[in-house]
Amino acid sequence: MDCIFCKIIAREIPANIAYEDDRLLAFHDISPQAPSHVLIIPKHHIATLNDLNSDNADLISHMVLTATKLADEQGLAKSGYRLIWNCNEQGGQDVFHIHLHLLGGRAMHWPPG
Ligand code: 5GP
Ligand code: ZN
Repeated sequence: MDCIFCKIIAREIPANIAYEDDRLLAFHDISPQAPSHVLIIPKHHIATLNDLNSDNADLISHMVLTATKLADEQGLAKSGYRLIWNCNEQGGQDVFHIHLHLLGGRAMHWPPG
């Protein structure tokens, strides 16, 4: 399978890793859109949010709680941050292995463009 995030998990391409455990990996985005921009991904390949079901509830919860922990560690908890999931073309998804974006360190705009 030609998945860039699976290759990062397999250490076939390098990444600046922020956190890892048996279920997920977090690493800094190669093209950061904010002073802090971390991607949290499952180690198991799941292409889009549409592929999730109730069996994945613990995994998704673990991804969100890892993001909030990383936000706290990066000093973003009080100032604030944004978590983003993109799904398919109109959602802005470019990499088809689900990932949670953690963005912080600057003011975020609303509504998004
Ligand atoms: P998406 O648009 O799919 O929600 O976000 C994909 C993200 O992955 C983008 O923010 C992009 O900069 C990031 N990205 C793509 N390729 C790589 C890579 O090889 N390494 C890292 N660290 N980030 C990547
Ligand atoms: Zn993958």
